[in-house]
Parts: sequence; structure tokens; C-alpha cells
Amino acid sequence: MENLTDIRTIKAVIARHGFTFSKGLGQNFLTDESVPEQIAEESLVDENTGAVEIGPGIGTLTASLCKRAKKVVAVELDKRLLPVLADTMADYDNFKVINADALKTDFAKLIEEEMTGLRPVLCANLPYYITTPIITSLLESKAPFETMTFMVQKEVAQRLCASPASKAYGAITAMVQYYSRAEMLFDVPASSFIPAPKVDSAVVKLTVYKQPPFQVRSAENMFRLVKASFAQRRKTLVNALLGGLGGSFSKQQIEQAITAIGFDTNIRGECLSIEDFGRLSDVLYENK
Ligand code: SAM
Repeated sequence: MENLTDIRTIKAVIARHGFTFSKGLGQNFLTDESVPEQIAEESLVDENTGAVEIGPGIGTLTASLCKRAKKVVAVELDKRLLPVLADTMADYDNFKVINADALKTDFAKLIEEEMTGLRPVLCANLPYYITTPIITSLLESKAPFETMTFMVQKEVAQRLCASPASKAYGAITAMVQYYSRAEMLFDVPASSFIPAPKVDSAVVKLTVYKQPPFQVRSAENMFRLVKASFAQRRKTLVNALLGGLGGSFSKQQIEQAITAIGFDTNIRGECLSIEDFGRLSDVLYENK
């Protein structure tokens, strides 16, 4: 079995298949042996686990998952990598690759079809250009993953795990915190990849809630407020909502709702937790 994190092995594999890296597809392959092992370990991958991977590349993280999981299904967009994976994963009979765009994949259906009776987890060294849309769509899809462990740009990892009122806190943070408990696991320097990206990375684990952490009448309305608040984060919450909700509410209605949930009317949206946004939307939309 080849060590797919060894730089000479990687170079030999890609030379053997005449493979060239695509910058557009975010192809930076891992060269650090401990990272895939740690991701598999932190995701508690074992013989009862069905692991789904986005973007297997030449199979570096995939191999660590295959060693522990009952089954591994990887979604890879670049069809040039299919013969490479057939070669590097030849020793694993619990591996399957689907040639598809992860952004267009129905992960709930994939779990239903491929992971019956298994504990589904998602693991990925994400191509950076799809980070926010894929995390958003995975959370909204309600695909029943127990955990989702992602390697992302360090700055994005900080954003996913940020606290209200901090610089990194944004709409994606609020969303992640409604659906899951986010944990920053460890940093991975740019030098751990071939080719080396311009920025450092970090691994984040999302433990998905079975039930939302609090009750809200309409999560859709709540996220409407979140998006409007962060679209103009320099403005006060009142002004951001006044402009961002297309005139649905008067200034007085917004001020009254903010006061009703216990905040000053000069507050900025970035100071509200996701639960505060939930309470605000319940009050604001009560009579709508
Ligand atoms: N997992 C490998 C590793 O850690 O070395 C490769 C990670 S590399 C950062 C990202 C991978 O995602 C590449 O294999 C790339 O071809 C694939 N990819 C890019 N866009 C994708 C998409 N929309 N859907 C599925 N895979 C994609």
C-alpha cells in the first residue's frame, strides 16, 4: 500500500497518470501524514461508520477513512482523478467514488442509498472556492450527518467558530451555530500541501444537533434577519433591517422589537447571538 502523503509517492502517482493540478478546482493535496489520521480519529470513524468525503483527490484522506470505516463514498468532480483513485484505492473494497459536483449532490439521498444502518459522517479537505456554499447547503439539506469535519482556510475556520461581537462573526457563523456545535480542532500550515496554497488552513468539526438548540417560529424569517443584518454590518441593526428587509417593517416596528428582546436600539446586528436573532424574528413577524 502506498503512503499517499509522501511527497515522492504523490509525484510518482501523478507522473504515472500524467495528472496536472487544476488551480480552478482548488487542488492542493495533503502531504502531512498526521492530518488525515487526526481527521478520521476526531470524526470517530469506526466499523459502524459510513464516511462521505468531498474531493478525494488522489485518495490521501480517503485511505485513512477506508482503514477505519465500514464504507467510504467520495464525491469527486474531476474525472481525470477516477483512474488515479482506481489505482491508489485498489486495495480497499469498502470504497466507492461518485463523479459529481458536490454542490449539486443530494447528500440526504446519498446517505439513504449508500449508508443504511451506518453512522454517517462527512469529512473533507474542501476546495476553497466552494467552502461557504457547500457548508450552507449541507446544513440546510438536513442530510443526517452526525459530524462534518472540514479542512478550510484558517480565516474561514475562525469565522465558523466565532463568538458574537467578534470581528470574525458573520452570517455563516450564525447559521452554523443554529445547526451544530462548532469546534476548532487544529491548524495546518500551507507547507503541508502540494502545491502550497497562499494561506494556512485549519480543521473544524461541526457536531450536528438532532434538534435545533432553541425554538423559533420560522427559521426562514430568522435567517432573513441574519442575512439583512450582516449584508450591511457597519450600520445599526435598525438601519440594516430597514434597508435589508425591503421595507417590510417601519423603523418604529423594528425599534420596538429590538427593545422587546432587551437590546438598545443603537445595537449592531453582529452583537446578537443566533438565539437573539430567533427571538427578534418571533417578535417582529408575530403579527405578519
Ligand atoms: N482530499 C485530497 C487531499 O486532502 O489531498 C484533495 C483535496 S483538494 C483541496 C480538493 C479536491 O476537491 C480536489 O480533488 C478537487 O478536484 C475536488 N473538487 C473541486 N471542486 C469540487 C466539487 N465541486 N465537487 C466535488 N469535488 C470537487
